[in-house]
Amino acid sequence: MPSILIVDDEPDNFDVIEALLSEPTYELHYSPSGKDAIAALDAVQPDIILMDVMMPGLDGIEVCQRIKAMPKWHAVPIVMVTALSAKEDLAKCLAAGADDFISKPVNGLELRSRVRSMLRLRQQHQELLAFNAVLEETVQQRTAELQTIIHQDSLTKLPSRMFLLQKLAELVQAGESSFAVVYLDCDQFKLVNGSFGYAVGNQLLQAIATRLQTYLSPGDLLVRVGEDEFCFLLHQVKTESTLIPFIQTILQSFNEPFIVANCEMFMTVCMGIALGSSVYQQPEELLQHADTAMYKAKLQGKGCYQFFKRQMALAMLSRLTLESDLQRALEHREFVTYYQPIISLKTQKICGFEALVRWKHPDRGMVAPGEFIPCMEETGLIVPVGMVVLRQACQQLRIWQQQGWTELTMSVNLSVRQFTCPTLLADIDRILVETEVDPAYLKLEITESAIMENAQMAIAITEELRSRHIQISIDDFGTGYSSLGYLHRFSVDNLKIDRSFVNQIRAGNRNYQVVNTIVALSQQLELAVIAEGIETTQQLQWLQQLGCEFGQGYLFSKPLPVSEIDLNKLYSIEFSLYPLVES
Ligand code: C2E
Ligand code: MG
Ligand code: MG
Repeated sequence: MPSILIVDDEPDNFDVIEALLSEPTYELHYSPSGKDAIAALDAVQPDIILMDVMMPGLDGIEVCQRIKAMPKWHAVPIVMVTALSAKEDLAKCLAAGADDFISKPVNGLELRSRVRSMLRLRQQHQELLAFNAVLEETVQQRTAELQTIIHQDSLTKLPSRMFLLQKLAELVQAGESSFAVVYLDCDQFKLVNGSFGYAVGNQLLQAIATRLQTYLSPGDLLVRVGEDEFCFLLHQVKTESTLIPFIQTILQSFNEPFIVANCEMFMTVCMGIALGSSVYQQPEELLQHADTAMYKAKLQGKGCYQFFKRQMALAMLSRLTLESDLQRALEHREFVTYYQPIISLKTQKICGFEALVRWKHPDRGMVAPGEFIPCMEETGLIVPVGMVVLRQACQQLRIWQQQGWTELTMSVNLSVRQFTCPTLLADIDRILVETEVDPAYLKLEITESAIMENAQMAIAITEELRSRHIQISIDDFGTGYSSLGYLHRFSVDNLKIDRSFVNQIRAGNRNYQVVNTIVALSQQLELAVIAEGIETTQQLQWLQQLGCEFGQGYLFSKPLPVSEIDLNKLYSIEFSLYPLVES
């Protein structure tokens, strides 16, 4: 029921109003003075106030002004009940904040209609307030949800990178230096996703997060900073040596397998550590340094750790310079292809070439691939550069074939990154059409690791390639997973035995046995075997004795630029200068 406060020094006037407002029912309250009215507001909670103007003490205008100045009540409509009708008097009422007038003597019809319209106003105002309150609550709730999304990783429910940066910013700002950032990265996590799928990968990440959390001391923080990357923020750490037991414990905790999808899975991590210091201005810098140290640890192998050192940042800088140099080199066409002959150990004749990229650096001269391919693989630049090499190699093969060397084959290396590039097949097709090379004379070399990183995809792509009659070679065989088991699942044509086996081959030694096994297996699977890195006649003899079919190495020729390749001469070289071994 709407509540109406009537303020009038004459109780009779109240009685009149009460009689006039008997229908519909209102809750009527009476105050005999302005002071009394103000004091009664909280108890009465009026929806409208009917205010007499002429009163002893505080007059109606004064009271109206005071009530309108109170934040809690300023929205309650005040209707002035007055015998005054002069324009100035009414203007005074308006200036004091009054909402309407009723003239005395009060007319019932007028009174009821003014009260109704003021109540309508009041109701609309209250609805607006309620709507605002709901809106405000929704906004606050959404903001809180967003904060959680930003500050929490949805998979592991650990705090997020953003949250860590915020905490680090607080430490840096407070000039705090006795803390450490320990950056963890899982070793070869891609293999898990590649072999078991993302669902299992995610479960493993959750299991890792749960295990790492058990090593968390109160007040410290464990954060998921990236896909397979976690970060500890540890307090009360002053020196490297005090941290080593913790690092060892974490490394050891990975000796136990994780149980995921009913399987036991082993995982290792590398760690990079940055200790807090007053030199840090930005929280990102700390994280970056821990990451750099982690990257260094990775280069040492699985399950390693490194503390950040200044020199590392310099090394990082030269890496970045290398990256931009390589980008420029691609634009300036500084990549050239060298060719190394592949020899049939039976006929001792050249049967093909392997294309090997070189960087013709404007200042440094010819740069070998070992110095820049890892960087290009990480940045993805290997994809366009690999295509440059493939095109050059196919063009060259076409030229040689047109000169009459119709049986020559061309081997081209494919990196993991190219292998997972969605346009790979289309790019190869286009180059074959452009250069008019018969795909049967092209051999693509991929490493075991490229295959194992994404076995499913590798099977699909190698099958696509073979359906075009392109041959597939497994490069550096024996150095990677050396899992002979996977060979039958792949349709490949050639195995290239890594030069580390050829290097130290002696009668009956371990390498000899390994090569023997590889050759025997290849014969069963009908694969051709190519021995890499043959440098001495001795090595050649052992390989011939083991029945290895093809060879490549400095003994025959180093990789050469086209300008230095004379096929007539190469073909007439009697490699049989070296005695052929009876098999
Ligand atoms: P790879 O494919 O195993 O190539 C054979 C490497 O062994 C070449 O090194 C070659 O020069 C070297 N080599 C050949 N015979 C001998 C020998 O008798 N003794 C010694 N010590 N070494 C020998 P290079 O040209 O430095 O290439 C290194 C690696 O870089 C290659 O290994 C290959 O994995 C990669 N690479 C080269 N060019 C390309 C390319 O165009 N694309 C991709 N993705 N990788 C490439
Ligand atoms: Mg190769
Ligand atoms: Mg190789």
